[in-house]
Amino acid sequence: MVFPPEREAVYVRRMFGWQRARLRRLVLLAPFLLLFFIALEALLMPAPIGAWLRAPATWVSFTVLLAIAIWMRSLRDADAFAWAGVALQTLFLLACALSTRPGHGGLALLLPMFVATPLVTAPFWARARTVVVAVLLAYAAGGFALWHSAAGSTVWLAFGIQAVVGAIVALAMHATVDHARRSYFLAEEELAQRAQLDALTSVLNRRHFIETGEALLMHTRPGHALTACFLDLDHFKRVNDEGGHRVGDKLLAAVAKVLLELQGAGRLIGRVGGEEFALLLPGMRADEAEAFIERVCERIASLSVDGFSCTASVGVAEWHAGETLSDLLHRADLALLAAKRAGRNRVVQWSAGVAA
Ligand code: GH3
Ligand code: MG
Ligand code: MG
Repeated sequence: MVFPPEREAVYVRRMFGWQRARLRRLVLLAPFLLLFFIALEALLMPAPIGAWLRAPATWVSFTVLLAIAIWMRSLRDADAFAWAGVALQTLFLLACALSTRPGHGGLALLLPMFVATPLVTAPFWARARTVVVAVLLAYAAGGFALWHSAAGSTVWLAFGIQAVVGAIVALAMHATVDHARRSYFLAEEELAQRAQLDALTSVLNRRHFIETGEALLMHTRPGHALTACFLDLDHFKRVNDEGGHRVGDKLLAAVAKVLLELQGAGRLIGRVGGEEFALLLPGMRADEAEAFIERVCERIASLSVDGFSCTASVGVAEWHAGETLSDLLHRADLALLAAKRAGRNRVVQWSAGVAA
């Protein structure tokens, strides 16, 4: 499942968000796992642990791994985290390779880890290219371990076979988990969209319009222009009564299509009632919005669906700093009522007089 670049970036960011807390803990394992393996090597071989503990390489490796892990915990960018993760995994395996002693037997203990590490981490990466690089570097580190401990040809052959099988399994595991994750991402996106858009008209539904409208007002600074329009279709009941509800639905969708073309510049367009739409137009004063919505009404009036058409009445109210969305829409609604009373098919701007 391949997404276009923009969607891919959203997916990678979302996936990182889901996993970040777990990954922040996981990266801290690397330096301590190194110490654990060194201790295990010393205990099982048997060999004096002091040789490892005195070796500067042990503590340099531990410190470098710990520093990278701590730095990674602060990373917020998904790609930066992924490449830092590849570096951490590779350095961890190289440090394990360095800890082996030629002819000592520690290699036999560590070899499965070179094969297993990329398998364990494969499902976590978001992008396939990261998996490929991580797997190749892990097996290169395994090769370094063999060379470092002067392994014989049988060990090289065994590791080569395990590396090929490991690479295939790592890629297959990543592909399986990634497919499931991408399907989940798509389902989540669709659900979110369904929860936000009106099914018939595809403009924002009432709840989402109000939520985003309130957020918009909160972020609009005093002195910045913002105007609300409340639009109601005239005598729409007649369309249903004479043409049937299917024609009514088609005409409503056609009106919404005209409104959807206005999207952009932070404008919000929502269906707040049956044949009622509300618009929030940031950056527009009332006069500007009035002229704008008049042109929109002309376009709505020129629509014809199965021989039926309709006009619209609109109330316009400019936002006053500090005013709530509910109060703003109420003033636009009062202006709409004035437009209806004055004979419909017109735009009326709110003034203290319309409230009467
Ligand atoms: P007015 O000019 O006073 O607004 O008259 P009106 O007929 O438009 O107003 P009224 O409120 O009496 O009726 C609104 C109609 O809108 C009633 C309903 O049948 C219709 N309507 C509301 N939602 C839908 C819908 O989703 N589909 C269809 N087809 N009709 C709808
Ligand atoms: Mg109406
Ligand atoms: Mg109505």
